[in-house]
Amino acid sequence: MNKDVIHIFKNRLYFYCPACDVVHEVNLLKHRWNGSLKSPTIIPSILNDGCSIYIKGGVISYLKDCSHTLSSQTTPMVPLKSTKIKVI
Ligand SMILES: [Zn+2]
Repeated sequence: MNKDVIHIFKNRLYFYCPACDVVHEVNLLKHRWNGSLKSPTIIPSILNDGCSIYIKGGVISYLKDCSHTLSSQTTPMVPLKSTKIKVI
């Protein structure tokens, strides 16, 4: 079973965000990544509409300005579900 929590395609990373229930995209031209698919660290923070994230060691930390219910919380990253194809 594939336990990778990051998928990479060209210059972009994709990961599942349980707060938004979508896959977020990370542009590697704007972010640095430690190269790990199972325990990724990505800097700087990843900003989407209403969802601000730090990823360190395979754990998502949501900033307090998130508009969803996981604001100010942390959660381990989970493998992408093949059914989740909506990218935001
Ligand atoms: Zn999100």
